Amino acid sequence: DTLRRPVHTLRVKMVLLGSSGVGKSSLALRFSKDEFRSTSPTVGCAYLTQVVHLSNATLRFEIWDTAGQEKYHSVTPLYYRGAHVALLVYDITQRETFVRAQVWLKELEKQYIPGSTVIWLVGNKGDLAHDRQVPLEEGESLANNKGLYFIETSALSGEQVNELLESVAHRVFECIG
Ligand code: GDP
Ligand code: MG
Repeated sequence: DTLRRPVHTLRVKMVLLGSSGVGKSSLALRFSKDEFRSTSPTVGCAYLTQVVHLSNATLRFEIWDTAGQEKYHSVTPLYYRGAHVALLVYDITQRETFVRAQVWLKELEKQYIPGSTVIWLVGNKGDLAHDRQVPLEEGESLANNKGLYFIETSALSGEQVNELLESVAHRVFECIG
């Protein structure tokens, strides 16, 4: 059969949230350029982009970084507004960032994020497993309890970063495609 569904492009806003130093800017750089820099500057401008092709759609991700606002707990509603995906990032070697992720989650649930937003809990710095303070199972269980998706990544090695973006793409397409 020569009939085909048209391939359309969807714009997807993805925001990164979490404590300062967990690797949000490094993940944004990996997603967008597949690069890692030991001192990755927090993105000063609005966002980085990446395109993901699915069999029946193309997703153009706008990847929003906090511009360092998280240091002052002053991430503005403008940042979250209209987000299709929120990545809630913690550092597996710093327990307090895991605790803080749960505070971010409460804030998200309370005010900014509509029910349709897909939320992913992301344990970053997976390459530092020898310094781990948060067991994999604990991340998984928090995600299960709160109805979030979960993955551990390494922005440094790139491990699981593409997998994350592809999983997000499929999930978002199910929601808004
Ligand atoms: P942000 O404050 O959340 O944006 O965090 P950054 O992306 O600026 O990263 C903070 C520090 O952690 C930097 O020194 C990064 O090089 C380092 N970093 C980020 N991701 C990883 C990772 O996956 N593994 C390791 N070992 N270091 C990382
Ligand atoms: Mg940053």
